Amino acid sequence: SGARVRRAQNKRLPQYLERGVDVKFSDVAGLGKIRLELEEIVKFFTHGEMYRRRGVKIPGGILLCGPPGVGKTLLAKAVAGEAGVNFFSISASQFVEIYVGVGASRVRALYQEARENAPSVVFIDELDAVGRERGLIKGSGGQERDATLNQLLVCLDGFEGRGEVITIASTNRPDILDPALVRPGRFDRKIYIPKPGLIGRIEILKVHARKKPMAEDVDYMAVASMTDGMVGAELANIVEVAAINMMRDSRTEITTDDLLQAAQMEERGMLDRKERSTETWKQVAINEAAMAVVAVNFPDLKNIEFVTIAPRAGRELGYVRVKMDSVKFNEGMLTRQSLLDHITVQLAPRAADELWFGSDQLSTIWAETADNARSAARTFVLGGLSENYHGISNFWVSDRINDIDTEALRILNSCYERAKEILEQNRTLMDAVVNQLVEKKSLTKQEFFRLVEMHGSIKPMPPSI
Ligand code: ADP
Repeated sequence: SGARVRRAQNKRLPQYLERGVDVKFSDVAGLGKIRLELEEIVKFFTHGEMYRRRGVKIPGGILLCGPPGVGKTLLAKAVAGEAGVNFFSISASQFVEIYVGVGASRVRALYQEARENAPSVVFIDELDAVGRERGLIKGSGGQERDATLNQLLVCLDGFEGRGEVITIASTNRPDILDPALVRPGRFDRKIYIPKPGLIGRIEILKVHARKKPMAEDVDYMAVASMTDGMVGAELANIVEVAAINMMRDSRTEITTDDLLQAAQMEERGMLDRKERSTETWKQVAINEAAMAVVAVNFPDLKNIEFVTIAPRAGRELGYVRVKMDSVKFNEGMLTRQSLLDHITVQLAPRAADELWFGSDQLSTIWAETADNARSAARTFVLGGLSENYHGISNFWVSDRINDIDTEALRILNSCYERAKEILEQNRTLMDAVVNQLVEKKSLTKQEFFRLVEMHGSIKPMPPSI
C-alpha cells in the first residue's frame, strides 16, 4: 500500500473534488416517488456490470430540474454518498469566464479529475448558465460560452454508457437548454423536483430537527401549514433560526413557538424583497382580516389555522385558512346555515372596503371573493335552500331564471348586511389584526385567537389547538 500512497501523493491534487461528502437519501426528505429514480442511478454504479452485461445503456447525464433550494445539490451528493463514489462539483457560472478558452479548459480539467478518480459523480450546478441554446447570446461572451458548451458535449460523449462517471446537472430552466445537451446519450434523463407540499414540508422540518434538541410536543403540522410555498433551504433555515432563538433565551429545548417565529422571520425576509407600498399591504390586510374576523363568529368556519397577507402560490393577495370539518365539507353536508355563513365571509372583504375606505373609494380587491359569494348564493337558491323557493323542480324552467337571480340577490344583500354589522361591532379587533398583519405579514392560529380574546366583541369558542 506504500506504493499506492506515493502514487497518490505524486498526483495533482484534484481541484473539483469535494471531500467528506457523507449525504444519504435519509438526509433528503419529502421525495416521494422520485426516490426510486435516484436509487436506480445509484445502481448504475453499484451494479454497473449487470447493466452492461444485459446491454442496458447507462445514461451519461441526468438533469435535476426545479426551483432553487428544493435540494437538487443535496440529492446529487446523496447519490454519490449512497453509491460510495467521489463527488466532483462545479457551478456552471464558473465556466463562463471573460477570457476565451478558460471555461473549456476548466471543463476538461474537471472531467479529467473525475475519470482519474472514478467511479464518480460530476455535479454541474445551474447548467443553464452555460447550456442556454446557442445563438441566443451575441458577441464574444457568446463565443466563449459556445466553446465551453462544445467541450462539455465532448466530455459527456466520452463517458457515454460506461457508468464510471455520471454527470448530474441542475437547472431551473430545462426549457431553454441547447437541444444538443438533451440529445440521447447526454442529458437524456430529466427528473423534476417540485416545491414540497404540506407533508413534504413536515418531513423536511423533521430531518433538520433530528440533530437539534426539540421539545417533545413540537407541532410540525402547524409550522408546515404556515410555510406554504417554501422550499427545503428555507425550512432548514427556519430550524437554524429557531435554535438561535432558544440559545438566546438560555433555554434547552426548541419549541413550536421558536419555529413559528422563525418561520415568520423567514417569510418577512422573503416579502421585504417584494415591492409593495405600505398602503397596499394595509389594503390587503383589511381584505384578509375582514374574512377572519367574520368567520370566527360562525361554528363551521371559526377554526382558523392562520391569516396571511403573503402572496403565495396561486393567491396573489393572501389568505385566511379555515380548517373545515372535511367530512362535512366534502360530502356536501354543510347545513343551510353554514352555507349562508360562508357567503357572509366571502362578502366581508367588500363590506370592509366600504367601511374602511368609504363607498366612493371602493377598490376591486374583493372581486374574487364576491364572485365566490355570488355563485354560492345561486347554489343556495337552486338547491332549494331558500325560504321562498323550497323544492327545486321549478327552477330548471328557463323563464324562472330571473326569479332565481332575484332571490340570490336578496340572499347576497342580507348576508352583506350581516357582514357589515359584524365588522362594525369588531372595529377594534379589525384594527388590531390589520396592524399585526402589516407588521408581521402573517398570524398564527394562536396569535389570531389572542387578539380575538382581547378585542373581539363576540366571544367565540376557544380554538382546539
Ligand atoms: P438546490 O440545489 O435545489 O438549490 P440545495 O440542495 O442546495 O438546493 O438545498 C440547500 C439546503 O436546503 C440543503 O443543503 C438542505 O439543508 C436543505 N434542503 C433542501 N431540500 C431539502 C430536502 N428535500 N430535505 C432536506 N433538506 C433539504
